[in-house]
Parts: sequence; C-alpha cells; structure tokens
Amino acid sequence: MEKLIITVGITGSRITRQQTPYIPIAPKEIARSGIEAWRAGASILHIHVRDPKTGLGTQDLSLFKEVVDRLRSETDAILCLTTSGIPGRNLPIAERLLPLNLLPELVSFDAGSINMGENVFLNPQEFLEALARETLLKGIKPELEVFEAGMVHTCLKLLERDLLKSPLHFQFVLGTPNGMPANAKSLLHLSEIIPQNATWSVIGIGPGQLPMAVIAMAIGGHVRVGLEDNIYYSKGVLAKSNAELVERMVRIAKEFGRDIATSSDARRILSL
Ligand code: ZN
Repeated sequence: MEKLIITVGITGSRITRQQTPYIPIAPKEIARSGIEAWRAGASILHIHVRDPKTGLGTQDLSLFKEVVDRLRSETDAILCLTTSGIPGRNLPIAERLLPLNLLPELVSFDAGSINMGENVFLNPQEFLEALARETLLKGIKPELEVFEAGMVHTCLKLLERDLLKSPLHFQFVLGTPNGMPANAKSLLHLSEIIPQNATWSVIGIGPGQLPMAVIAMAIGGHVRVGLEDNIYYSKGVLAKSNAELVERMVRIAKEFGRDIATSSDARRILSL
C-alpha cells in the first residue's frame, strides 16, 4: 500500500475558545500548531486564519501571509489554503480566491453547495469555474472537497471540460449536519466512483474522525485529522493540540504496517 498522507486541519473558521481553549486563533498560534503537527507526521497543513476581533474565519490575505511565511521558513510541509470563506456569509468570489496569491501547492475546492445546519454553504457553478480557472493559471492543485456523492459528479464534469486536471485529489467530508454520514458505506461508495488514478483522503467530522481515518488507512486512502474537524481526543476529553491527533494516526498506521508519507513523499503521491 502507498505511504499514508496525514493532513491536519489546524483551526478552521468556526470553533471558538468557548468550545475549546486549545483552538489556535492568532497567526503565531496557528503557525506554531502547524509546525508541531508537521513534526508529529503531518505532511499537509490545511490553513484558515482568524479575524483578531471576532476570533472567527477571515480571508484577510495579510494574516494568511503571516502564517504561510512562518510555516515556509520552518517546515517543508505542503500548504493547503482554504477558499471556503466564512460560515453564514456569502463572500464575493474574488475574496475567496485571495489565498491563491500566496501560491500554495494545494487549495481547498468545495465541490458544491450544501446546507450546514442553519446556514447554506454556497459554492455555485460560477464560483467553482472561477476557482478552477485560477488554479490552472497559477499551477495550484485543487483539493476536491466532497460532502455528498453528487459533488464527485460535478468534479468529473469539470474534468471533462478541462477545467480540472488529472489526476484528481479528493477529500471526502463525512458527518457534516446535512452531508453524507460518517460511515463505512459512504466512504466505500465515494472511493469507488472516482477515477482509478485519483487519490483520496477522508475527513470524519467530530466522533467520525477516528473511525473514518482507521477505515481509510486500512483500504488505501489518506486521512485528515485536526481541531478544525474534531475537538475531542476521546468522548468528553478535549484534544490538547493538533499534534496529539496526528501522533495517534502515526501510532495506528505503524501498527497496520503502513509507513507515513513525508512531505516529499506526499508531493510524489499527489503529483504536485
Ligand atoms: Zn477548512
């Protein structure tokens, strides 16, 4: 089996200090947490930044730059910058695309719209095509985030039109309030309907994180863990850091006999 790529979602845009004191908010904290997670075995760091006033997500390019500069100076990690914007706010497309100016190797590409509790996470066709064109122009690989099976179909149609380039890399997001549930059937189905040369990883939200990661590890996928997706280490016990969640993946993978991909291994596996 191919080496295991561990991605870490460091902070996301919506978890607050009230929910967990361990969520990194300031650029320095986000960078430090990313460096620790990389040292622990994560090869891809998925980055959001937070507005210092509200503590919630922002697409402020100067904050992204501060985090990216720190991570680039201290790690060789693959950086995956978010384009998802801010929950509940329909940001202009140009603002969502701002992080591409920092030329990360990966950017998130949320492959369709979906209800998220009270909010609608809007990713209309116009946004997808604008983002796809910009990634082609800048030589950045989109990480195709798929919340339900129709979104795979959306990506395949963009591939047919040469708006996406083969081999595709999917990130299945299972266990969101209105998306596919975090269970083995969802994961198997998605892993079987993508092109044979595509790579994939899985995010299990909340209590889905550990079981989805373990299944993915066993069937040849890759995994994402981190406080963006899950703030608990075990039932009722908060995870104290992103590194703690990565370290557990490394231990389990070793028990399986699956080696951990370094950042350069991950570049080869993902054809970056
Ligand atoms: Zn994210």
